[in-house]
Amino acid sequence: MADASSGTDERLKFIQTELVEVKKKVPEIPDTRLIAAVVDLIKVEIKKTDHKQVNITCLFPMKYPHEPLVVELGSKTLAFKLLMGLMSVCEAETKKLLGKPQVVHMMNFINTFLDENPLCVCSEEIAFIKKNLLTPEDDIKLKQKSSQIVLKFRQQNYFMNIVVNVPETYPLKQITVEITEHNLPEFLKVNFQAQSIEIARRCVQPPLRKKPKDPPFVPKASIRPVCEYLIRDCLKRYPLESCPLCKKQILPADPTELNREVGIERVYCGHLFHFTCLDKYMKTPPFGASKFCPLDKKQIFHQKWQVSAHVMEQRWAHKQAKDRELEEVVDFLE
Ligand SMILES: [Zn+2]
Ligand SMILES: [Zn+2]
Repeated sequence: MADASSGTDERLKFIQTELVEVKKKVPEIPDTRLIAAVVDLIKVEIKKTDHKQVNITCLFPMKYPHEPLVVELGSKTLAFKLLMGLMSVCEAETKKLLGKPQVVHMMNFINTFLDENPLCVCSEEIAFIKKNLLTPEDDIKLKQKSSQIVLKFRQQNYFMNIVVNVPETYPLKQITVEITEHNLPEFLKVNFQAQSIEIARRCVQPPLRKKPKDPPFVPKASIRPVCEYLIRDCLKRYPLESCPLCKKQILPADPTELNREVGIERVYCGHLFHFTCLDKYMKTPPFGASKFCPLDKKQIFHQKWQVSAHVMEQRWAHKQAKDRELEEVVDFLE
């Protein structure tokens, strides 16, 4: 009994000495606030940005410091899975400190982790991309030092590499994304790049014209919508698509054939057409009010065919007349 109580006294003395150090040193750690430091528990908040924030609760176990400090983490913004992972890393770290004061070291450790892993704010989105957008032959690399996500993905013989830059105040500020390499037709890349910038912008900027019934605008995370667009809706999609008119595959199976003049047009609804197929379709009656995509019945807008139905009709009639004339000539010659 005497041994046990002197052990308890020793523990209490050790903790009290450590608390003095905690009160002095924890407030000196950047972005760190000491909320409570008593024998029962220590509470600290580390806040790097509105979204990079952790609450830490430490408890001294019965055999402290010969047992590791109990560290619990909570956050309103960081993903639960990430916190669980960080908690197990913390546990491994405290085990290295048995017999010594552990609190200040732990706070420094967690603080450094947040500084060195800026992508922790988007851990859930990264998990989503890995699980739902990429296939085993694709590749994702996290560059924590530069706060970038590098993605390489493919469909058949086509590929795209992108770099996603995650700003410090993400998700309040949107990502920037760059298509660094690809073997698609260049006009498609330009189109996809512009659209992805627009998708990211709309995540954080309220619409210019607000409808009265719209709920208040809340900025949202932009990595997932941009990656869904570039991976699922662009690169994984188009190599499998056919021309809605002739039903032949729209992108050649061999991308090097794109160097030759394979005319492809992308229209308003997003479908790709062979230039020759679309040109014939647009210049053939009925002209009516407008022309529609055969697949989704959406109106086809394209600057190359921005001619009124009336002009189209005249041109067509003219061409018919020419053809008739030609036929007559041919008939005459036969
Ligand atoms: Zn076609
Ligand atoms: Zn369409």
